[in-house]
Amino acid sequence: MKTEAAKGLDHIAIAVKDLEAAIRTYRDVLGLELAEVEEVAEQQVKVAIFGHGLGRVELISPTVADSGVARFIEKRGEGLHHICIEVEDIEGTMAGLKANGAPLLDEVPKAGAGGAKVAFVHPKGACGVLIELRQGPKST
Ligand code: ZN
Repeated sequence: MKTEAAKGLDHIAIAVKDLEAAIRTYRDVLGLELAEVEEVAEQQVKVAIFGHGLGRVELISPTVADSGVARFIEKRGEGLHHICIEVEDIEGTMAGLKANGAPLLDEVPKAGAGGAKVAFVHPKGACGVLIELRQGPKST
């Protein structure tokens, strides 16, 4: 069984300590267009999103001291945290990955930024990079 084809790279996420300082760097120094800032309670992060559509850059900053992103920064410092693949049918993709032995970190999709459904694949199943699967809300 082959896992269903992905739609493309949705975003890359960079873990940062100070979101305001990181926004100034990405917007004012690197010249990326800041689209929005959003708090994602379920992931315990505040997210700054640059650009629109596929290929966005997200800065993620922990909102609590003992969250996954906070521990990541503590261990490795700021830097690339995950890449996100947009998929058509997240449950179907997760079933395909499971059937192919990929180590999923989530049993069922969770609530992500922008009303999306998300789930994560462990870095050991993707050559050392944490992978987020994302199914965006249906556009009307
Ligand atoms: Zn993400």
